[in-house]
Amino acid sequence: MERRSLALATLTAVIVLTAGLASAGASQPNASALIKISLIGDSDLARVEAAGVPVYARLTGGGESYLLAGASPEEIAALQSMPLDVDVLDASPGGASHYLVLSRSQRQLSSLPPRVRILSYDGVQTLIRATQADAEMLAAEELEITALSLEPITLLPRHGEIIPKTIEPDPLVASMITQVDQTELYQYEEWLTGEEPAMIGGVPYTITTRHTYSGEPVEKATQFVGEHLAVLGLDVEYHSWNASFPPNVIATKPGLVDPDRIFIICAHLDDMPAGEVAPGADDNGSGSAAVLVVSHILSQFEFGCTLKFAFWTGEEQGMLGSNAWASRASGEHLNILGVLNMDMIAYNSDDAPFMDIHARSWLPDSVAMANLFADIVDAYSLEVVPEVLIDDPLGNYSDNGAFWDRGYTAILAIEDEDDFSPHYHTVDDRLSTLNLDYFAQFVRASLGTFVHASDCLIPDGIGYLEGHVTAASRGDAIANAPISIGHATADIGSISTDGSGYYTRTLPTGSYTLTVQASGYVSQSVGGLRVSRGQVTTQDFALRPLAIYLPLCVR
Ligand SMILES: [Zn+2]
Repeated sequence: MERRSLALATLTAVIVLTAGLASAGASQPNASALIKISLIGDSDLARVEAAGVPVYARLTGGGESYLLAGASPEEIAALQSMPLDVDVLDASPGGASHYLVLSRSQRQLSSLPPRVRILSYDGVQTLIRATQADAEMLAAEELEITALSLEPITLLPRHGEIIPKTIEPDPLVASMITQVDQTELYQYEEWLTGEEPAMIGGVPYTITTRHTYSGEPVEKATQFVGEHLAVLGLDVEYHSWNASFPPNVIATKPGLVDPDRIFIICAHLDDMPAGEVAPGADDNGSGSAAVLVVSHILSQFEFGCTLKFAFWTGEEQGMLGSNAWASRASGEHLNILGVLNMDMIAYNSDDAPFMDIHARSWLPDSVAMANLFADIVDAYSLEVVPEVLIDDPLGNYSDNGAFWDRGYTAILAIEDEDDFSPHYHTVDDRLSTLNLDYFAQFVRASLGTFVHASDCLIPDGIGYLEGHVTAASRGDAIANAPISIGHATADIGSISTDGSGYYTRTLPTGSYTLTVQASGYVSQSVGGLRVSRGQVTTQDFALRPLAIYLPLCVR
């Protein structure tokens, strides 16, 4: 970590110079400026929410927590009167692009071209105003960048706490974990990094690079993963988020009981550097190979909730693909309950198998998921040592950030920052540099965490409950009759009959109680209904009308 303080000295000088310039820029009288709002007091966030200004990023760095937002001069005055600590970083951001840059060494900072305007520096990350070309040049300089999208972020978690706080080791999960095979990981890496030709579209093809702008090679890489996912019987979407970029690839295993509850395990597929050759074995061939292996194993089992296996593109250009998809998901109100993002998970040069798990304090379930990861390592005696990092700025620089910004639960699983691949973003990031034991253990822990976090594995398969609800008197169908489904361990929820009085529900095998409560009828309950694997259990209900007692009027 000391490497960062060297960076600080050099850059402070630069900031003072340019900040003055930025605020002097020509601005439209009521145009929104790009501002920084420091979160000092506990109620500061609520004040910002009350002010209703669009917030674009929530950051921590150098021991402070702050927001980047947009505000007109009037709004700035209102914010300052609340009082809130507000700095104008760019008085006229209109049309310009802004990026957050993370630097891991002093050498990197000094490479910033003079035309790039530095707007702020928090001791770890720098906010710059730059063209996309400049930003990508920085990425080529092994700097981590993330584009600052001017789409307002969600400041609060989207759902209550659902991630299990405690777990019981499960023999079925243990059997899945042992299926994680080093050889299979190695084989996928060979194909993804061009060490060996891969079969794509039935033809051998050598993937020499997966760089976002490489054209055919990266397109082939997306086809490669898509084909492997399709063979597993998963629904595969090629999500084209920009005509000039390769698509994201997302495979879905629909939930059998609660399909609208969604869990995602993911990794970015694109890599660095630009040019003919970019193996990207650790960054991020390792995460991609892990998603392929996990999808292969989990596709053999049944889950009540929906699982998605996702490969993002455009990550190295600022999480462009994942932001596009997460923005669409948010717009569609997808009920995403957990995202496990793996980025650089196979380099470990020392005997200490440390790894970092990043979470955000303002998303309690992301902290719960990070702690769950650590519990999984203990419960299944896995040979990695996770360190849970809360609000560490490094966590912003991978695709999990796109989900944090929309209030979704997510974690980043990444190799130890203090034993980080020295081949990062170079042509030397090759398969031969990876630690396969560490890699396999990392994937086992990720798979176990994903399955336990989803908490919807159906160990004994599924069956079907169905029947008709009618009026006992003349047998008329009763439509929209609410039926609640109870189970020994939990209330499964309720369904209702259709126009013909028919109902059906897919359920994990087990014993259930059904209760029908149609208005105007005596409610009815039937318990001990056995649902067996692949079988249809039929239970009809004939409801008696409620007796209506009319008061006798005695004259
Ligand atoms: Zn990466």
